[in-house]
Amino acid sequence: MERPAVAFITLGCPKNEVDSDRMTAAVVSSDYRVVDEIDDADIVVLNTCGFITDAVEESVSVALELAEWRDARAGRRLVLAGCMVSRYGDDLASAMPEADALVPVAGEAGLLTVLEGLTGFAANPVAGSGRTVTGPSAYLQISDGCHRSCAYCTIPSIRGPYRSRPIAGIAEEAALLVASGARELVLIGQDTSAWGRDLPGDEDVADVLRAVAATPGLAWLRLMYVQPDGVTDRLLATMAELPQVVPYLDMPLQHAAADVLRAMRRGGSADDFLALIARIRSALPEVCLRSTFIAGFPGEAEEDLDVLLDFIVEAGLDYVGVFPYSPEDGTAAAALPGQLPFEERALRANRVREAADSVAFARAEARTGTQLEVLVEGVDAEDGTAVGRWKGQAPEIDGLVILDTTPEPGTLVCAEIIETYGYDLSGKVRT
Ligand code: SF4
Repeated sequence: MERPAVAFITLGCPKNEVDSDRMTAAVVSSDYRVVDEIDDADIVVLNTCGFITDAVEESVSVALELAEWRDARAGRRLVLAGCMVSRYGDDLASAMPEADALVPVAGEAGLLTVLEGLTGFAANPVAGSGRTVTGPSAYLQISDGCHRSCAYCTIPSIRGPYRSRPIAGIAEEAALLVASGARELVLIGQDTSAWGRDLPGDEDVADVLRAVAATPGLAWLRLMYVQPDGVTDRLLATMAELPQVVPYLDMPLQHAAADVLRAMRRGGSADDFLALIARIRSALPEVCLRSTFIAGFPGEAEEDLDVLLDFIVEAGLDYVGVFPYSPEDGTAAAALPGQLPFEERALRANRVREAADSVAFARAEARTGTQLEVLVEGVDAEDGTAVGRWKGQAPEIDGLVILDTTPEPGTLVCAEIIETYGYDLSGKVRT
């Protein structure tokens, strides 16, 4: 029997990408093959997202398209993995007979056993690196699960309680990723600032930064998903001290009106958050700030929305993600009174997004004429343009710097910013 070929399709967030990387590496280190195109594959593994209804709908629709791919040739198999599988468990098996096998979030390590069960072909795994690196930047997961209970969120029920990865394993994976070509590491977890809370001793995320920053050859180190109450002076001082750590913070605030934040079971207020942002900017004057907000939460009054809109203008954030509230089965928020119709939630989200974009685009435009260090990501296959990111842009979400020459991917160049298009910048490479 020829070695079966496996293709991966990943939906959802960077945490899913890391899970897919691990599954890909397991297959690479076995007698199965990994292919890019589904038409070359015998098995497709769809790593699903399932944390809000829209994501579930997208996952189901892609799965149904793949079922058609599977049925077009005898012997093809479809495996569903990830958050949607964990969220719906056994119900999914009966609701989606199109899938040949289901692999929940914590079960990715058993993927090879699942593949063997489907094909009868022995995987013969050998100890591998555990990850593959496909560009100059790589995600590094430092924790999984979440210990909080935000009223709207399904994540704790999908990914379980907070688990910190021991620091030695994180540092080891960091070294491996950099040795495999990564110049930038992006630390992720549902709440990176809570790292260490479940481990003995008093190490915290600042110690993780220090350990990873010591990786030889690492150029940039970025910290994502920091909850506002996790921004300690110690963390800020460590970020300011370590040259590898980029001045960037992704801090989900979700709202600014105190009563909405209380109903979300998060806490805080516009004044608290403005004071926090001032503290961050005083420790890291060059910092770029990203945040996310939910509009149309149950009971959100017009005055609450005004508080949020005023906050958005005053805070001067560099990147903002805005989502209309989505009532999810099994969450406390779905049972709250004061649910707003979908159209109203979408309308409010648009108002917040427009306000946030106008602030953020002006901040990007103000970088015109400055010189920025840019990490070259690659060359666009269609028009041959080289693109990269400066320190203030996280991979995949914050836009790109479009370059006028084509330096080698993975190199750091200095570019003068000559124009901006929303979050994207265009830069002239200086030699
Ligand atoms: S901190 Fe994030 S992952 Fe955890 S419950 Fe709140 S929204 Fe969900």
